[in-house]
Amino acid sequence: METRTEINSLGEFGLIQRINKGIKTVLPDTVRGIGDDAAVIDLGEEYGLLTSDMLLEGIHFDLTFFPLKHLGYKIIAVNVSDIAAMNGVPRQVTVNLALSNRFSVEAVDELYDGMKAACKDFSVDLVGGDTTSSRSGLLVSVSVFGKVKKEKVVYRNTAKPNDLLCVTGDLGGAYMGLQLLEREKQVFLANPDMQPELEGKDYVIQRQLRPEARMDVIYELDEAGVIPTSMIDVSDGLASDLLHICAQSGVGAVVFEERLPIDEQTFLAASELNIGPVTAALNGGEDYELLFTVSQASYELIKNNPKISFIGYITDKKGEVELHTKADSRVPITAQGWS
Ligand code: ADP
Ligand code: MG
Repeated sequence: METRTEINSLGEFGLIQRINKGIKTVLPDTVRGIGDDAAVIDLGEEYGLLTSDMLLEGIHFDLTFFPLKHLGYKIIAVNVSDIAAMNGVPRQVTVNLALSNRFSVEAVDELYDGMKAACKDFSVDLVGGDTTSSRSGLLVSVSVFGKVKKEKVVYRNTAKPNDLLCVTGDLGGAYMGLQLLEREKQVFLANPDMQPELEGKDYVIQRQLRPEARMDVIYELDEAGVIPTSMIDVSDGLASDLLHICAQSGVGAVVFEERLPIDEQTFLAASELNIGPVTAALNGGEDYELLFTVSQASYELIKNNPKISFIGYITDKKGEVELHTKADSRVPITAQGWS
């Protein structure tokens, strides 16, 4: 009898692992395949980087509150973020689009206005793609090609014990922005005359609707002469992404709760919605900040960069990833991620 395994019994990461097991790369210029933020390709002088990400209506965004222009910006930014996570520079993108007749030409223009703005901000060229019809929703998928000098590429699996754990910007904002937008949608559906209550919440809303890729920090690290020892972008939440670094590097980590960078507006939104701000920071996701490790020798070179928080360190205790709380207890950090 044929067996049937439900996809949710594996989850996203289990499924990718299973796909990965069945794939062997054979070309001599394929330096790194599945398993990092981008694939790495030997171009001779330097490495090429290649990655894609898609956003699907009803899964990743809800058009009742997600402006198409922002969606266009976001799909480019999240792709560029994966190139940043390899310490690389993005160069070209291609765009795949599936649309139903619910969408007008003007709607497509808006989507592209957002993509063009992001291409300008991150200095990338949009060079192609594919367009097809969809039965219902909108799907937009982008692939990005980037470059990195061979000696500067940074992987997920090279964190070393005693390295310092760093994160850019602040965490949990995008998740709180989404919770607020969802709440306002429910209020609006119940009573269309209600005005949205989003005053003073502009920052977290923007974190959800218009995330930035941290190319600025990549350039600043380069200027400071610092190459991280490992790096990943925070797309699924700090917990899940730190667990990737630790599992792939065969190390453990300690994170100090009091060091987690959380914006004032994230705190306020979290208390308003009865969500723990630390939970939002650890498991929220979609922040598109960079999580990286540096050797202790690098600390002096970046300690004054206000965009970087030093949140903990790497240990040799493989698989032990712990949060040291403000109350001085130690709790294991576990992944929630996508299911
Ligand atoms: P990220 O969050 O950085 O975009 P993902 O968690 O989506 O990374 O993917 C992890 C790794 O698995 C990447 O190397 C990605 O290219 C690869 N991957 C994801 N989905 C597939 C798939 N359907 N087939 C082959 N490789 C995949
Ligand atoms: Mg990534």
